[in-house]
This record gives sequence, C-alpha cells and structure tokens, in this order.
Amino acid sequence: MKKKYSILLMYAFLVACNSDVTNDRPHGSQTDTPELTRNNYLMGFLNEYRSSYDVTYYDINIDFDIEKKSIDGFVTIKAKSLADIDTLQIDLAKNLSITKIIHENSSVEYYREQDAVMVMFNKTINKDTLFDFTVHYNGKPQGADNPPWSGGFTWSKDKNDRDWVAVSCEGEGARIWWPNKDHITEGPDSVRMAFTVPSNLVSVGNGQLKSVVNKEGNKTTYEWFVNNPINNYNISVQIGNYVTVQDTLIKDSRVHYMDHYVLDYNEEVGKNYFLQAKEVIRFYEKYFGEYQWWDDGYKLIEVPYLGMEHQSAVTYGNGFSIYNGLRSDSWPMYGVMDPLIIHETGHEWFGNSVTAIDPTHIWIHEGLQVYSEALYFEDKFNSYPVSVDYMKSIRPRIQNKIPIVGPENENYWALNGDTYMKGAWVMHTLRSAINDDPVWFEILKEFMIENAKGHVSTEDFFLKVQEKTGVDYSYFSEQYFYSPNQPKLEYYQTNSSFHFRWNNVNDNFIMPMDLLVNGITKRVLPNQEFQSFNITQHSTIEIMDWKFYVNPKEIVQ
Ligand SMILES: [Zn+2]
Repeated sequence: MKKKYSILLMYAFLVACNSDVTNDRPHGSQTDTPELTRNNYLMGFLNEYRSSYDVTYYDINIDFDIEKKSIDGFVTIKAKSLADIDTLQIDLAKNLSITKIIHENSSVEYYREQDAVMVMFNKTINKDTLFDFTVHYNGKPQGADNPPWSGGFTWSKDKNDRDWVAVSCEGEGARIWWPNKDHITEGPDSVRMAFTVPSNLVSVGNGQLKSVVNKEGNKTTYEWFVNNPINNYNISVQIGNYVTVQDTLIKDSRVHYMDHYVLDYNEEVGKNYFLQAKEVIRFYEKYFGEYQWWDDGYKLIEVPYLGMEHQSAVTYGNGFSIYNGLRSDSWPMYGVMDPLIIHETGHEWFGNSVTAIDPTHIWIHEGLQVYSEALYFEDKFNSYPVSVDYMKSIRPRIQNKIPIVGPENENYWALNGDTYMKGAWVMHTLRSAINDDPVWFEILKEFMIENAKGHVSTEDFFLKVQEKTGVDYSYFSEQYFYSPNQPKLEYYQTNSSFHFRWNNVNDNFIMPMDLLVNGITKRVLPNQEFQSFNITQHSTIEIMDWKFYVNPKEIVQ
C-alpha cells in the first residue's frame, strides 16, 4: 500500500511540472533569461522528495576506462531523514545507466525522469534516522564543449601524447558523472573518493590522499578524502602523468601543506610558478578571513583546460605564464600575478566557503571574486588608482542586457551575462556610495567570516550592508542586481549653474553621486527631477564615473 501511494504521489508531482524541452544552461553571451525547462524544474526546485533528507556523506567509487571514455561506479549516499520517507529524489544524468540501487542489502525500485531518479524504498524510513543506500551505475559521461564554462569530461593528451583527463561541471552539475542530490545548498559533511585508473597514471581528487592500492588488471585505486562540507560541483577528478610539487605555508607558527600536482615534465616550472599561490592566500586571509580547508590542504593541479575552483584542489591550465597564458592576455594583472591562480584560489572564499543559496545569486561567487582582484592590486601597490584602472579595464565587457540576478528555484546558473564584470562594478560603486572605506572593508570581511561554510542570498549581503551603515540600500540592490538598466546621469551646464538628474532608473533610486567641480569633489543627491547648483562661468565639471557604474549623458538644451 505504502509503495502504491508513493508512486501515485510521485506521478502527481511529475505531471505537475509541465514542459518537455531539455536544454541545459546556455553559454556565451546571454541576452535573455532562459525559459524554464522540465529538467531545470526537477533540478532547481527543492521539492518534498529532496527537502526530506540531508546528505551527510558521499562514498564515491569510480573505475575509469579512458580508451572508451566511460566510467563504471557506485556511490553510497549517507543521509539523515528530515521527515518520514517512502520515496526520495536523487539526480543522475539521464545518459548514464543505473544497474541497481541497494538499501539494507535489498534492491529497491526507482523511476527516472530526465536527470531525476525517484528512489522508492521497500519500507518507510522514519524521520530523524541516519540511513544509506548505494547506486550502481555506468556509462559515458558527457564531454566538455568549452570547459570550464560548458563543462563535462575533457579527455585529452599531454605533450608526450599520454592520456590526460579532467572534469569540470559547475552549472551542469555533478550528476553528469555521479549520483547525488544535485542542488547548490546540499553539501555533504565529508566525502571519500576512490578513483581507479590504469597503473601508469595518477588520479588526483580533492582533499587528502589516503591510500594508493594496486588492483588486478594493471589498475590502481587512489583514495582521496575531504573532511569538510563541499559543493557537489567542486568534487573533481584529474588523471595524468602527475608528480607532486611540495610547498608549505607557515602562519601563526603552524605549517600548512600545499602539495601541487603537475605533469612530470612541468615539475621545475611548477615548483617556481606555483609559489604565487601563497601570496594569494595571504591576501585573501587578510581581507576575507581564514582559509577554511587547511585540514584538507590546498593544492593546484595542472589540467588540460583553463581552470576551476575545485575546493582544496584548484585546477590550473593557464600555461605558467603571467603575460602569455590563455587568459593572461585578456585579463590584465600588471605582470604580478597569474589571473587563474588568483581567480580560482579566491573562490575558496567566494563560492566554496560562502556559497549562493540559489545559483541565480552566483554574483556572490563571481562578482565578488573579480572585485577582490581589484582590491588585491590596491593592496599590492598600495594604490586606489590601480584598482580603478583594473575596474576600468573590465568595464567594456558589461552588456546590461539581463539582470544579474534572475529567477530562483529554476536551476538558473547566472554565469553568463553581467555576473562577473558588472557584479564587480556594483561592488566598486557601492563602496563609493557608502564613502567610508573602513566600514566597507569591515562589511566585506564580516560578511565572509560570519557566513563561512554557509549559504547566502543577495538580500543577506545587503542586510549586512544595512547593519554596518544604518542605511537601507535595497534601492541600490533592486537597480543594479534585479534590473539590467544602467543609471544615466543626465546633465547640462549654463554660464551660472549645473543641472543633473537620474534617468533610466527605478522610481526609488536615490544613489548619491560624486562630481569633480573645478577639481574639488562634490557629492550630490540626484533624483529624477532636475536639480542644480551655482557655478562660476566656464567651470570644469566631471562626473566621477570611474567610481560609480553610471552613464553620464549631456542633455542638449
Ligand atoms: Zn570564477
């Protein structure tokens, strides 16, 4: 009876969400928020079959057949029931086959729709029970079109024509290669990974290497362990002819280990080049609080794509070059830092430690990350103008086509559009609007420390801003995060007066604005009606759009 009831309920649930198009996140520049697809409904919404349990542990076991580009594995999911459970949803890409699901030594039935797998237990699991079940599966996981933006497996060869494999799956979801509860808020407390590869190769995962065991058939299993909460998409595997390059970071008399992995022929360059990571970590700890994962270590791993922020296992593919790497050309770093090392390492704070509560708020990962790079240069050169120069260099990439924050609960990974560059400019602008640097730096640091290993929304950030400034900046958030429109400062000048107003803004938009009047800073409070102040004839007036993301527009009278 119980089971039939479950099936009926599940059928009702599945029928309730209509739409039959499968279309994963678009890539490249985006001009419109995507239509909600059936699969994104199933992945994005925490329905009762997902919210009824909390995953505590994943035990991931995968055997890689590199020649066939296929995997064969089983994953044990340990969880706590938050309600009485007959049926629950896990997620696994529909192109992968499930051979069986085992609970308490018995097979259980399951039903699949797109990437959702509805697991129907043989008996009710009561609320507040620790339980586990194991999913056996295999198949050919999707390849990566344009990693890391359009992810999947990169099956590649190194310079010596030897196999070199890596996975990146932010946005696509970890379900493209292993079964899990694939929602951004669901991180386990710890994870064990056992990756079995041909014995001539090394496989590298997140966290600490626990064992290396030779298997029959000339295969070797590398066992890795992460002793912290981790976002599913951060769990990764890299396979290649790796050697370790060991480094340490000493802080407060404690020695922290950094065992980087590079291809064997890059041992020398890796040893020298990856020293940069220590400076990056010190910078982030100074402004945003402690690195959260020292018990899992920190390592850079060379990969055959640009790079990705995999927690405690940051991947790197920028060619060991400050000026000529794949990314270095287009991402000015003033010759002092590799853009991939600083960007992906910074995500250990923005994204991995402080995670968006829904992927639509992912500017918290990317906008804050890019903005923090401007602060790195400001700190490094002890110069605000350098951070302004960095901000100006990224400004032309802003498009203002769609809001930075889109719909919630729709598996909408707002990684395209203006999440990165405009997100950074919004932070730069907010600092200028607040106009109190000590408070601004406290806002950033306290927000990161108080929410370490937590999940936050855009609103949470602005609550912190309000707490520290006493000002409600929701008008600011609504304009810059929820509308695509760039505020226009319209102005004109006569012999004796300067006139200004906001246009292209929400009704409630009241941001202050700084002008330079004959070289002296003057703060004005524009609204949507023209206001004016007196000036001497032929005054020189500049709109300080290097501090504010606004569009100055002279009106012809
Ligand atoms: Zn990023």
